[in-house]
Order: sequence, then C-alpha cells, then structure tokens
Amino acid sequence: MTGEKVKIGGVPMQVVSDAEADACDYLICMPWDDNSPFKDNFRGICCMCGVTVMYRWHAPRQPKRICIQCMTENLNADDKSTVD
Ligand SMILES: [Zn+2]
Repeated sequence: MTGEKVKIGGVPMQVVSDAEADACDYLICMPWDDNSPFKDNFRGICCMCGVTVMYRWHAPRQPKRICIQCMTENLNADDKSTVD
C-alpha cells in the first residue's frame, strides 16, 4: 500500500508510511465538528481558507493543514506537487 498512487476527489496523491508523512505537502482535514465522536481532536486552521479543522493526535504535525473542500477545489490533477 505504501508508495501506491490513489485519487481522492480527483486529486492524485501517494500513500506514504507514518515515517514519511511529516514530509508530505498537506494534511487533509475535516472541518471542525462539535459532534465528532472523538472528543480529543486537535484544532487547526486550513492553510487556504482559514476555516477551523480537526485532526487526530497521531496525525503528522509538519504538513500544512488543508480542509477537504479546499483540497478538492484547489489541488487539481495537474499539480505534480501532490504526487511527488
Ligand atoms: Zn480550506
């Protein structure tokens, strides 16, 4: 599975290991939801639209956080930075 290339919302991305994840371009997050079943989510800010997002404690910390809406709207298939 690691190294595999997949498309999510039409955006190509590469599956990486936990060890490689800190070097990724983006961490895709869901918008903050008070009704999330996880009460220990971390809060972040989408790097493109500024909306508050949530992510799990074990998610990589270095990649820029981006909400799933900005991911599908702004990272198109021609942007090679998402797969390299
Ligand atoms: Zn956003």
